[in-house]
Amino acid sequence: MNDSSGQPFEEACDKFVTWLDSRVVAAGRGDGLERLEVDPSRTFWLGRLACEDEVRTGANDERSERLDPCAIGIRLRPAEGAPWSMTVTVRARAWVKDPKEGSPDPDRRWWRTGLVEEEIPVVVGADGGFFGGKLLQDAFAAVGAPGLTAEIRVDVEDWHREPELVVQLVNTSPIKAPGLSDSHLYETQLEVTGVLTVPFQLEALPDSFRYDRNVPAYGINVGVDVLAPGIFRTSDTVSVQTHRPDYWNSRRSEPDMSFAALAADPIPELTALVDALTEYDDEHWSTTALDTRHATENWTSAMRAEADKSAAEIFAERDRLLAGLELLRTRPEILRSFQLMNQAIALSAEGRGYRAWRPFQVGFLLSAIRFLAEPGAEAKYVDTVWFATGGGKTETYLGLLLTAAFFDRLTGKRMGVTAWSRFPLRLLSLQQTQRFADALAGAEMVRWDQNDLKRTSPFSLGFLVGQAGTPNKIVPKPEGDEIGPDSSGMPDKYRVLLHCPFCRDENLTMKFDRQRWKLEHHCMNPQCPWGQRALPMYIVDQEVFRFLPTVVVGTLDKAASISLQQAMRGLVGPPQKLCSVEWHGFTYATRRATPNGCLVPGCQGTLKPLPMPEDRFGPSLRLQDELHLLRDSLGAVDSHYESLLDHLQDRLCGTRAKIVASSATLTGYDRQTEVLYRREGRVFPQPGPHAGESFWTVRKAQKLRRFVAVAPRGVTLEHVSDRTLDALQSCIRELKDYPATVCADAGIDRAHVKGLVSLYGTDVVYGSTLYDVEAAGRSLASNNTVDGINVEQLTGQTDFDEVRDILERLEKPEEKFEDRIHVIAASSMLSHGVDVDRLNTMVMLGLPLTTAEFIQTTARVGRRYPGLVYVLHKIGRERDAQTFRHFDKYVSQGDRFVDAIPITRRSRRVLALTIPGVVAARTLMIREPASKQRLSTPAMLRQYVRDTGLTPAEEAATVASVLGLDGAEDALHQEQIMEWVRDWFADLEDTASTAKYINDLGDPSPMRSLRDVEAQAPIHD
Ligand SMILES: [Zn+2]
Ligand SMILES: [Zn+2]
Repeated sequence: MNDSSGQPFEEACDKFVTWLDSRVVAAGRGDGLERLEVDPSRTFWLGRLACEDEVRTGANDERSERLDPCAIGIRLRPAEGAPWSMTVTVRARAWVKDPKEGSPDPDRRWWRTGLVEEEIPVVVGADGGFFGGKLLQDAFAAVGAPGLTAEIRVDVEDWHREPELVVQLVNTSPIKAPGLSDSHLYETQLEVTGVLTVPFQLEALPDSFRYDRNVPAYGINVGVDVLAPGIFRTSDTVSVQTHRPDYWNSRRSEPDMSFAALAADPIPELTALVDALTEYDDEHWSTTALDTRHATENWTSAMRAEADKSAAEIFAERDRLLAGLELLRTRPEILRSFQLMNQAIALSAEGRGYRAWRPFQVGFLLSAIRFLAEPGAEAKYVDTVWFATGGGKTETYLGLLLTAAFFDRLTGKRMGVTAWSRFPLRLLSLQQTQRFADALAGAEMVRWDQNDLKRTSPFSLGFLVGQAGTPNKIVPKPEGDEIGPDSSGMPDKYRVLLHCPFCRDENLTMKFDRQRWKLEHHCMNPQCPWGQRALPMYIVDQEVFRFLPTVVVGTLDKAASISLQQAMRGLVGPPQKLCSVEWHGFTYATRRATPNGCLVPGCQGTLKPLPMPEDRFGPSLRLQDELHLLRDSLGAVDSHYESLLDHLQDRLCGTRAKIVASSATLTGYDRQTEVLYRREGRVFPQPGPHAGESFWTVRKAQKLRRFVAVAPRGVTLEHVSDRTLDALQSCIRELKDYPATVCADAGIDRAHVKGLVSLYGTDVVYGSTLYDVEAAGRSLASNNTVDGINVEQLTGQTDFDEVRDILERLEKPEEKFEDRIHVIAASSMLSHGVDVDRLNTMVMLGLPLTTAEFIQTTARVGRRYPGLVYVLHKIGRERDAQTFRHFDKYVSQGDRFVDAIPITRRSRRVLALTIPGVVAARTLMIREPASKQRLSTPAMLRQYVRDTGLTPAEEAATVASVLGLDGAEDALHQEQIMEWVRDWFADLEDTASTAKYINDLGDPSPMRSLRDVEAQAPIHD
């Protein structure tokens, strides 16, 4: 969007963001207004000070003081001993109400006084003191607000051994006095000059050798700007600017990481990459390098120990890259898989403006590729991709996944699932799914040209999310909430793809093919390279089982189905047979509705043997997105189901899937992966020698996001959110309607107006709870000065097709501004995979529960252009108040504030829920196929158990070992398992039992979804 005018668009965005922020802050303070109709204390939320008496007679606790404070201040550490002398400058205004009679403007009787600005000389000893009271009193009287008083209070605190000076402006006005209409001060500001100070040191955390720990001063109820050394001024908000990362940080020139180069001849480029890494690591992590920093930066021995530990991990990481490179050199089929993958990614990226990897993405691929050569040894590790800065996660996954898919094909796995990729939310984003589909379509087109792969199955995608999004199955005669070919909304309602993955045409049609019994996406472009057949995309659970697509994307909770449906077996091992009717696919256990095991209703086909060895059916990879969300009860339950999946694949194929995850946090990932997967955790990339800087990333000048912390005073958070959104919307309309004025004011070239209106015309208001989100949406609609604000909601409750429409409207806004979406009220649903370049302003209602959520959510704005994020603190809450105090560090060193993930696999409450699933899955997936008969009813299973002589003790011991609860310290857990299994056997043996199906045996029944537990409820061992 650059223009001949000369001003780069990027710069226009930056200036516009600055202007927007100044306007929002002005709206909060009341700057520039002359008169008001309403009481100013019910309107403004910044810069105001209540009077001390009022705060004292109120609830009189720290919390209410924060909600409507009577003082602002600056805390400093003087460099020298008492006495201290300084100049304190106070700025403030007042609002005065005209009497009923004789107001020059009877409709707007409140008027704003002139500015009070006083320089107060202060000399203070160890006892502190009061200053400037009389001066300020006279100054307020002089501007027309007699009765208002204020003073400077200096306290000296020395409980940290070294003295600290607390300089405050306190509103000492009386609550009521003759002629005094409002005892608040407005637009207050405090400035301290002339005192020599030393910085505070943030308390040392384990990895603090990476961080700048200096804090020049702390604000009290405000932020502090350091205007020049020794000059401190309060600010009503705390602004922190972040910058975009660059992905090459070496003095060597960047190797060609384009898909084309790596598809053609990757070894020279990869060698150059690893050489540059080696040089960087030696320069920053060698003993000599650390010795130097140790001495010059005054490290403690604990900091040095941390640095030594980090260095060891850095060199281990480099060794993994070297090993990966060596494999590409020596193993032709691995090299070819890597090349084909690059060809495929090149195709899928065509026309999207990128043609190359970022170096760290290739670094990850190199570090992980060894699992192809040594799957058994490498399955012991969970490789976690850590994305603290910027995107590219999904593409990195896709690179690994396509490499594995090609490798599978080249080594005899001609069909079946290569990877099962799971997302922790119920609503996997459609955009994310589309990217998987695009990559697989690229791979499919590449496959057509490979002579030795032509006869393997097409690369395809399965979408396994279940009832909330797409049907589990389609039945001929639906009952209850079942879905049939003619159910309402069929088939259009279930469209998942946004465009054709082969040709990008958006003209897709949904069809239900009765003959093939398939719910299909069709591309209507006559030139589509895929042709007029159904696209290779399966969105009904049963179709996923019938066709076992190359990649299955889905939600985490679907793992529960492994204990409920025999046909889930295709996701951990071989199906049973293949139906003779070509388009019916794989078959599973026989049931009443599927008498021959084929899942197509009324199938008359016969069963053919599997066309591939059974042990190749197990997936090579399981991917877990957003690992850090697997915590508390959800994490505990999932840890048991992960073990169950491992157990089943081991029994059915003798293999273990490699697990790859992504996480927004590093804190405690090693323990988390140990608990979840019983594997060792490894993370890529290792953090660099300095915060925000490593071989893989370095900050550049380009601006990313401006974070603005707001501590609302005296009014509700909802009021502030409404007013902020209102100000943002009125600004964008002003730009549209009066471009000349705004451009002159903000320093923007007029050529950029259209672009800015599009990029900054939709604001996000984000709430951590559904309640907050809905309230924000409602309140804005009824409480704004700007007319016609179109609000839409994006939450977990928003219907699937509505989400799709909203995303489409955001991506391709209506021509007329009035018709567009102006505000999106969103919950955490937004934080996962919604990538819209047009979202650049956000208002956050209170800090989210976790720092990880804060990082992820705010990353939704400013993806390509400078973003602006207002973080409205719920300042009454201790955590929000603390964060406000060190907001700068919270944003710039956010990863350090991420809490370790609370998780355990030893919760007995959770165990009570998961035992039934383990026993049921073992029956469905192992016992039933082994028995070569149907074991779906208690009578059949009873007979089988008798025939095989299975005992409760034997089954209980297996369950305990599957769940990793077979140690000496787990005696209680073993007892609990034994008890449940014994009851289950008793039920089974009870011929008078009313149980109709095997899952009626025992209590409770297997979980239907991993979400059956309260996701965030804390649990204990
Ligand atoms: Zn097409
Ligand atoms: Zn069939």
